[in-house]
Parts: sequence; C-alpha cells; structure tokens
Amino acid sequence: MKKIVLLAVICLGALSCSQTEPKEEQEEKFLVVATTAMLGDAMEEMLDTTVEVVTLLGPGIDPHVYNPTKKVLDHLAEADIVVSHGLHFEGRMQDIFEKMSRKKTVIFLGNALPESKLIEPEDAGGFYDPHIWSDVELWKEALVASIPQLEKSGHYNKEGAEEYLKKVEDLHAYAASQVQSIPQKNRILLTAHDAFSYFAKAYGLEVVALQGISTVAEYGIKDVEKMVDLIVERDIKAVFSESSISPRSMEAVMSGVEQQGREVKLGGILYADAPGEKGSGAETYLTMVKHNVDEIVAALK
Ligand SMILES: [Zn+2]
Repeated sequence: MKKIVLLAVICLGALSCSQTEPKEEQEEKFLVVATTAMLGDAMEEMLDTTVEVVTLLGPGIDPHVYNPTKKVLDHLAEADIVVSHGLHFEGRMQDIFEKMSRKKTVIFLGNALPESKLIEPEDAGGFYDPHIWSDVELWKEALVASIPQLEKSGHYNKEGAEEYLKKVEDLHAYAASQVQSIPQKNRILLTAHDAFSYFAKAYGLEVVALQGISTVAEYGIKDVEKMVDLIVERDIKAVFSESSISPRSMEAVMSGVEQQGREVKLGGILYADAPGEKGSGAETYLTMVKHNVDEIVAALK
C-alpha cells in the first residue's frame, strides 16, 4: 500500500508518468466500435480474434433519436475503426462520424450501396430509407462492400467472413421461402414505424407504418384512423409492435378497430432497429431476422 502511494507522489512530482503510456497502448487490442449489434455481430465474425468489438447501442434503444453520452464519445475517440450504418440512420451522430472520418476509418455501411437499390420514401425530405438490413440479401451486399476497408485494417478474417456471409445468404433464402407460405391476400405488414420497406420489397409484402422512416416525427390521430380503416376494409388479421418503440401507438390502432366491432390481434413484437435482450432468442442479427420472419408468418398465415 505504501509503495503505491509513494509511486503516485513521484509521478506527480516528476510529471513523467506519461512515459509508461506507450507500453500500455501496445498491449491494448485493436478497437472496433460499432453503433448497433447488427453491425457488431458482423464485425465479430469478419475480423480476427485480436480485435475488440464494442457495440454502442444495446437492445431496445432507438438509434434515430439517440444522443451519445460522454462515455460513448470517449469510446469513439479511442476506436481504431468506427462502423456505422450511414444513410442518416444514427440521426444525431452523423455529424460526429463525418468529422471523425477525416482522422480515422469510419465505415458508413449503407452508403456503399448503389442508389438504384435504395428506397427513397416520398415524405422523407430526400433522404434514403436506412433500414437496409431487413432485406437480408441487400445487407449481405453492404457487408461485402465493406471488406476492402476491413482488409486495410490488417484484421480481416477471410474464413470467418465467408462463413458468416454464407449464414446471411441462408437466412435470405429462409425468409423468402417462409413469406411465400403466407396467402397472397394476407401479405400486408402493419407496423409502428417504417422500418420494413426493404423487407417488404425483397420478400413480396405490402407494408404500412404509422410513422415514417425515422421515429423523430410523431404520428397523429389521423394516421391511427387511416390504419384502422385499412384493417377493417381489408380484414387484416394482425398488427405488429416494435421492440424499440412504445407499444402505445399500436394499442391505439387495436382499440380503434375494436370500437368498430372488429378484431385485430397483436402479431408479436418485431425487432426493427435493434436485436433483442439476452434470453429473447433474438440477440443477434441472424436470430432477430429469423424471429421477425417467424412472427410475421405465424400471425398472417
Ligand atoms: Zn428505424
């Protein structure tokens, strides 16, 4: 105990403690900071084991309105590579990443996709829909596009990446074949916010959401009424709520339908912008998409 105190005093006196820092840094792992677990998962598999992957946004956190804390900003400052979705998905962090990209590698995964494959919603002010991971094949394409930057880091794990991308490919085939088992007239997905447009386009469903592609804008009574009318008119069986959004909006829709003497069930919780909690069975990108597909199929079939 005495020794430690003494050391501290010497350090303070000599101001030379910083000399020991480079040694510590050498022992530190190559730090990759990913914004979401969807990205973090992929990086764990596509980079070698000497890398430490930190995910910023845990389960149930809404990235559209997320404000980074001091601790998160410190993590970002220390990172060797930052991996983000881009396409303005991480709404309030976009500017930070752009500034950072002048000094270190920042991957904006979605930005590498050709514009022809991106969805530009009418009411999104010229922004592209960032929820590309719901089309599993498109997500794979974006991951593949990031490989040159991963290779440049010196930590790319070719074998691990190939294995992971094969699993992603298999998941795409699974989603496609499962959705085909829903009768054509039931292939309509009613959700809280517009996170499933790529899913709908890729797998052949119609999608209607209360809110736009971001959760920043509020939905109104009119939006709820419109959805209620749609459900009654087309005799839709189920609506879905989302893990990172309050269930209140969909509850309002359901009670609106009830007031008209009809019934619509809650088709389960979908993971739109973040995978699930530990123990949910949907903790990773692969299991989260499978969960969504299974919930959708079970409710609409
Ligand atoms: Zn979203």
